[in-house]
Amino acid sequence: MDRSGSLPDLKVPYLHPPERLGELLEGEPPYRLDQLRDWLYRSPVLSTQDMTNLPTAVRERLGRLWPFEVELEQSADRGTTRKWLFRAPDGAAIESVLMGYPRRATLCISSQAGCALGCTFCATGQFGFERHLEPGEITAQVAYARAFLRQIGMPATPDHVTNVVFMGMGEPLANYDRVREAIRRMIEVMGLSARSITVSTVGIVPGIRRLADEPWPVSLAVSLHAADDELRASLVPINRRYPLQELEAAASEYVALKRRRLSIEWTLIDGVNDTTDQAVKLAAIAARLRAHVNLIALNPTPLTRETAPDAARIKAFTRELKRLGVNVTIRDTRGRDIDAACGQLRALAGRRGLTV
Ligand code: SAH
Ligand code: SF4
Repeated sequence: MDRSGSLPDLKVPYLHPPERLGELLEGEPPYRLDQLRDWLYRSPVLSTQDMTNLPTAVRERLGRLWPFEVELEQSADRGTTRKWLFRAPDGAAIESVLMGYPRRATLCISSQAGCALGCTFCATGQFGFERHLEPGEITAQVAYARAFLRQIGMPATPDHVTNVVFMGMGEPLANYDRVREAIRRMIEVMGLSARSITVSTVGIVPGIRRLADEPWPVSLAVSLHAADDELRASLVPINRRYPLQELEAAASEYVALKRRRLSIEWTLIDGVNDTTDQAVKLAAIAARLRAHVNLIALNPTPLTRETAPDAARIKAFTRELKRLGVNVTIRDTRGRDIDAACGQLRALAGRRGLTV
């Protein structure tokens, strides 16, 4: 694969720093700059042709609007889930999933093409690491979904993205500086509220500490999956570097500093982490962190034999947590029929013989 193209092409508007857009419009009056910034970040559109107040010559100068092509677009749940597999010019795959609800539209975005952390149950982890995504490639996912909602829309869903979660491909805190810049652009340039952005991490402790030092109260989700070091290390290898005690301490500091409720993500794997023993240990951690627990049934991946527990076991695990005083929700598994879990659309593209 050609890697020479992996440096950002600064002529592509979304890859260009928003504060330096003037460089793309040299010789144009300053108000054009405001118009372009609005089209890119405030009221995004799917094509430069839709930038109605820019003269054709200016639109043509901009060239390629998106830093990726839409390789696959799939719809599920009666049109309220949409999943995109974007492809960067160097071949890197970027997945985003938009989930519409009556009062919210949540966009799940990717921070890396692939992931180096190798959690055993995760399709992205099974593929390995391709490269970090640039800030512009991260914000362009949000802009694309915004443009989609504005111009095409989803049934019974707001016409704008209300929440952004870093739960697509990649570990956001392993790509800290670029993710930070993407978050800054979302908040300062696109106008999203920090609270509506959730960074989901497998537990990169120094990253949690750095995020705590940032000025924005972004929401934090910790993907725990196991509540003792032995089991956790077998599912999440990075636990050997950052064991539970350190992770808990960093999460606790984050909560204290930001006054944000933490969420704990727990992918339920049949016979592995759905036991009473794990429920009891998880309840203790959740109580100390005053965290909300989100349970998600494992979405099967091509390379593991593990399965999701059946409905009765999921119910029993949930009941046990509730009995122990934990605030717990079972996440709906949107887009099952379109493989809308972390890294799975890319796996599908691979099966169809498309380049991955
Ligand atoms: N790297 C970050 C964010 C991306 S993964 C993290 O691990 O938190 C986003 C979420 O999807 C994580 O909570 C992860 O555990 C979960 N996940 C990964 N593979 C899954 C699968 N096969 N089924 C269900 N959830 C999965
Ligand atoms: Fe990476 Fe998150 Fe998947 Fe683990 S679960 S391999 S950290 S993307």
